[in-house]
Amino acid sequence: MTQPGRPTISLGLKPDAPPPEIPCRRSGHLRRWAGRVYAGYLVLRTALLALSVLATSIVVTSLVGGLIESATTRLALGLGAAVVLPLVVRWRLRLVVSRRLQHRPRLGGVWFLVACNALTLLVLCLGFSDATGRAMRRRGDWFLGEADGWLPRRYRRSLATASGWMERFDLPPEAKVIAEAALPQDPPRPVYQEGKPLPPEQPTPLVAWFHPLLGPRAAPPNSATRFGAPRPGVRPRECELGHCGIDLVQREGSPVFAVLDGVVVQAVRNEAAGGIAGRFIRLSHKEGAAFTSYIHLRDLRSDLRVGTKVRGGEVIGTLGRTGCRQSGAHLHFALAVKHGGGVRYIDPEPLVAGWRLPTLAPGPLVAEGEPRGVGDVGRSSAPSSPSTPAPIILTSEEPEDLRPHRGAPEGREQAQIPTTVDVDEGI
Ligand SMILES: [Zn+2]
Repeated sequence: MTQPGRPTISLGLKPDAPPPEIPCRRSGHLRRWAGRVYAGYLVLRTALLALSVLATSIVVTSLVGGLIESATTRLALGLGAAVVLPLVVRWRLRLVVSRRLQHRPRLGGVWFLVACNALTLLVLCLGFSDATGRAMRRRGDWFLGEADGWLPRRYRRSLATASGWMERFDLPPEAKVIAEAALPQDPPRPVYQEGKPLPPEQPTPLVAWFHPLLGPRAAPPNSATRFGAPRPGVRPRECELGHCGIDLVQREGSPVFAVLDGVVVQAVRNEAAGGIAGRFIRLSHKEGAAFTSYIHLRDLRSDLRVGTKVRGGEVIGTLGRTGCRQSGAHLHFALAVKHGGGVRYIDPEPLVAGWRLPTLAPGPLVAEGEPRGVGDVGRSSAPSSPSTPAPIILTSEEPEDLRPHRGAPEGREQAQIPTTVDVDEGI
């Protein structure tokens, strides 16, 4: 506005006219770069949001998966913790701050969600690393089902690494007793193992045990085959939703080995009598301090009966699918330790990973009456000669002298099996 009586100096420009456009190639270049940086920021923000929501959902669904079987409920809880909970917290926080300071804070929604999820993951993965690691190992891939493509395999490998960092696996006190008893005074001297001294730099009791199958070593393939997976019926509490062991997959007919010195407390050759367990064998170790079960066997070694002593690393039968309704051939392996007046199942997966692989001595595995080689272990079924070890005879039929005693308590070892534990549970 001009004041009256004061001369105005005109520069030849209209007062409201826009400033002249000065051509500048540099500013256009900068604008393009600014656009790219902003687009990159948006992509990063979206990726961080998706990643944090996904990671939190997987961790939370894995943790609640030990108690909740329904996939829909698990998913709802996972998304609730990753999305709904942070949004509710944000809404409440804004309300409180605006009341106290008379100012409504902005609290950017996306970054708030990312920060909340990062905090949740930090608390669960660092504060409760053992429980979270265990849950991730057992159920971190639950949403994949039995998918077995390249991507699921990569995901499961990453999951195993991540849960391995978090989970600190310690032997339960009951299992420590038998593990410590096995070393160093009484290391197992297996019949079918070429004696290899335990490396002095690894005096861990785990290597005193044997893997129940020949190599290559393989973990349970998916969440349905791991410890605690959903199974119908009444189940011991420590087995979470039901599966009281692990399912290890190898070719049908592969030899199955005793994992430690023990005594046979149950040997069921009659498939019908075994029910959903089919043919199975159960061993007692260290005078009933622990029990191992080998279920769904195709054949059992012919000389095994209640009271027979076996050494760690001995062949006790062959892998099969007896008692299985739908699944293929696999070994259901269970480990239980004496606990109070009964037994308590423990997850054998971390233990099995540390056990040494057994080897077969030369000599055939043959079915009684009809010689039958085990092709998958690369051995001929030639008849034995005085210079070669005697063949391991396998049978599917129960010997006559055992039939009247089936299912009845027999001997001192049999009496030690708690009656509250049924072998049909959680298979
Ligand atoms: Zn099983």
